Amino acid sequence: MPEIVVLSGKGGTGKTSLTAAFAHLMHNGIVCDLDVDAPDLHILLAPQVQQEHAFISGVEARIAREHCTYCGRCEVMCRFEAIHQQGNNLAVNPLRCEGCGVCHVVCPSNAISLTQKHCGQWYESSSRFGPMVHAQLFPGEENSGRLVSVLKQQARETAKKNALDLILCDGSPGIGCPVISSLSGAHLAVLVVEPTPSGQHDFLRVADLCDHFHIPASIIINKADLNLAIAAAIENLCTERGYAVAGKLPFNMDITTAMIAKQAITETASPLGAMVVDAWENILIQLKNGARKRTLPL
Ligand code: SF4
Ligand code: SF4
Repeated sequence: MPEIVVLSGKGGTGKTSLTAAFAHLMHNGIVCDLDVDAPDLHILLAPQVQQEHAFISGVEARIAREHCTYCGRCEVMCRFEAIHQQGNNLAVNPLRCEGCGVCHVVCPSNAISLTQKHCGQWYESSSRFGPMVHAQLFPGEENSGRLVSVLKQQARETAKKNALDLILCDGSPGIGCPVISSLSGAHLAVLVVEPTPSGQHDFLRVADLCDHFHIPASIIINKADLNLAIAAAIENLCTERGYAVAGKLPFNMDITTAMIAKQAITETASPLGAMVVDAWENILIQLKNGARKRTLPL
């Protein structure tokens, strides 16, 4: 089952807006929002939730006050300073607790238990562009990489069950754990880059990550006309590294208008929509060819 993951080294490049358009253009596929820390693809796609699931991951400490003798050992031994005085009692701050279990081990009264942690929710939904899986991690929670893995697994099962042809994923910005998890098993990474110094810098970091995992990359230079010199430098980098360039899109306020209307740009009559269609066709060709070919004269 082919899997495409749309990534950008930094936020604000237009990654999610383009993913929404690709979801619109995709036929017989499933869309998967892997930006679990700050998901927003659902705002554009307005999915109907069919099934909701709790995401349980890791453990957190709980103090049974009736057994606690207030010896203070746990407070001293917790290197994350998660245990603190609360009135006459000791309490665990769940935002600080890392679930390491040290307090549980050192407590002489067996007053501390480690309980499973409810870190977020994930959803199986239907959208106007087909099935969708998405999630929301609770504030301050970790294990985003594991949640990404849960979503991808569900997307694969749904795709198999419904004989779908493609899994399209919206990844998170950066190069951290959720991005690495989203690249696992991907056949093509679409990297959306904007021509700014930070955009170029962060693009190289995520490109390095794709190279490290031997995942072909296809590049979209978005808002390319905002800085022609940096856009040209990014093109040169793509040539040097052998990345396929799927599209070079101009800055166009139509994308903002479409977002306000909760539409993908390809659902509008904007000329930018037609350019995104061309980029998507290039991506599909590159997916088929393994993406190590520059296909678009810029
Ligand atoms: S489990 Fe670890 S981090 Fe959490 S309160 Fe106990 S010692 Fe601190
Ligand atoms: S180590 Fe156990 S008995 Fe001592 S203060 Fe902590 S919870 Fe209470």
